[in-house]
Amino acid sequence: MNFLEERILKDGIVNEGNVLKVDSFLNHQMDIELFGKMGEEFKRRFAGKEINKILTIEASGIGIACIAAQYFQVPVVFAKKSKSINIEGEMYVAEVESFTHKCKNQVIVSKKFLSKGDKVLIIDDFLANGCALQGLISIVQEAGASVEGIGIAIEKGFQVGGRMIRNLGFQLESLAIVDGMDEKTGSIEFREQEERREK
Ligand code: 5GP
Repeated sequence: MNFLEERILKDGIVNEGNVLKVDSFLNHQMDIELFGKMGEEFKRRFAGKEINKILTIEASGIGIACIAAQYFQVPVVFAKKSKSINIEGEMYVAEVESFTHKCKNQVIVSKKFLSKGDKVLIIDDFLANGCALQGLISIVQEAGASVEGIGIAIEKGFQVGGRMIRNLGFQLESLAIVDGMDEKTGSIEFREQEERREK
């Protein structure tokens, strides 16, 4: 079991509706030492990839992306959630349906900060149905940049996002993959990952 899986078992709470609450260390209060280990692990998993920018989405992806960026020594751009519709032109826009809030948001990135030729690592806290990632991928592609990899803290492997993104051919690295959880018992089951990744 890796450091993140151990922490999820210790402090994660299984809520109804297939929601894993990790707000004591990941997406409300943030354990920066843990984020450091995650950043280091992302760097190891994407070793050899030429990356010049990290792209994430507000709000929970930002902290993880910023700490990871220290290992890649690249800037972080975050997609902003916006209800405004009058922004096309200077902005890349994608529509994203929120799994946790059950609403649709437009996410926007200024054209100033993402350009043709950029080699992008996308980072986010959770992967569930993959809507957030699809939005970010479409923004990168619209910019004429390339997605060099996708790093996720927690993938919920029983939802469709992971399979869909891997089937599209992207290198998707999730530090913990939850294959099942039970709100009644609080149990959480992880997918086994390759030995080399368990350092
Ligand atoms: P997706 O777009 O892949 O369906 O969902 C990804 C987004 O939904 C993540 O950025 C995260 O903010 C949120 N999310 C999805 N599932 C969970 C969950 O079980 N727990 C928490 N805390 N956030 C989740």
